[in-house]
Amino acid sequence: MNKTPMELRNEKLGKTVCEALQKHGFDAFFCGTKEDARKKALELIADGSSVSWGGCASVEECGILDSLRAGGYALIDRDTAGNPEERAELMRKAFFADWYLTGTNALSEDGQLVNVDGNGNRVAAMAYGPKNVLVVAGINKIVKTGEDALVRARTVAAPINAQRFGLKTPCSVTGACGNCDSPDCICNVIVTTRHSKPAGRIKVLVVGEILGF
Ligand code: SF4
Repeated sequence: MNKTPMELRNEKLGKTVCEALQKHGFDAFFCGTKEDARKKALELIADGSSVSWGGCASVEECGILDSLRAGGYALIDRDTAGNPEERAELMRKAFFADWYLTGTNALSEDGQLVNVDGNGNRVAAMAYGPKNVLVVAGINKIVKTGEDALVRARTVAAPINAQRFGLKTPCSVTGACGNCDSPDCICNVIVTTRHSKPAGRIKVLVVGEILGF
């Protein structure tokens, strides 16, 4: 079946961004569909690996977590914790995982990832700790520049996540970022990942479909 104009454009843009990411030391792969992304993730993550994850709607939407939960991996899942102390311990254990899975709030055409975080654990694991990081990015996360990526992360991704978690923030009320100092603020740590160091530690799947927020 012939590809639609949108599919053609998404594929070209996705591949262009993968080339930019590779120049920054990321391993990057274009996956046309969510199913392609699921298969690529399972190809990369060896059986028996320890795997954890942070905010990862995009990873879930591709069915990657369901596949991992089916068996064969040592999962470090903070949502299995019985109490807050156990949850915090699992979040710390994630730093020693073979793989850490995450989405990204934004991805610039020149190959930079921008993420905002409430606790900082997700961006910390992206920066250092787990042996490998797998980032799943839908085509909707791509913007022109690093500055645009910061704007997307703060004015699109964060206000939607504030709705998801029912937080008491200005953006939950107005839909727009109020640059808040609220106790519930989820924009406490803002990180731009310009390069993967060591090269290849961070793998990015750029998916030609809309994923996450
Ligand atoms: S209002 Fe606060 S929590 Fe909401 S997007 Fe802005 S800084 Fe983040």
